[in-house]
Amino acid sequence: MQSCRSLLSHTTEKFSDTTGKSYNVRYEVTCKSTNVVYAVHCERCKTFVYVGETGDTLHQRHLLNLSRIRTRHNDPVAEHFYTNGHSVAGFRVMGLEQLNGTDEYRKTIEQLWKRKLRTFKPYGLNTKV
Ligand SMILES: [Zn+2]
Repeated sequence: MQSCRSLLSHTTEKFSDTTGKSYNVRYEVTCKSTNVVYAVHCERCKTFVYVGETGDTLHQRHLLNLSRIRTRHNDPVAEHFYTNGHSVAGFRVMGLEQLNGTDEYRKTIEQLWKRKLRTFKPYGLNTKV
């Protein structure tokens, strides 16, 4: 089993999206961080496909996603990585922000990142709420 850290693709404070626009990551997010908003990057499509949030650690969420891909779970994110020539090798998780506050606040920030990274359908796998 690979460690969470080795699978986190962007560890710098800045990263760029597919349009070349760059963003600052305000806090370093590690595998052990809780209350995080994270993005899933597909190495095959070379784009962000999903933004999510979790009250658990990023590592726990990461393991959950990996196991869903391996067991071909009926979940849009997992499905992306076991269809159309994809494999679990293309799956990358990146912590965007660690938050202090309520679940509602975390979900608000999650929505902002979904818009910023354009992970809503049809560009990505997020469905509008
Ligand atoms: Zn893909």
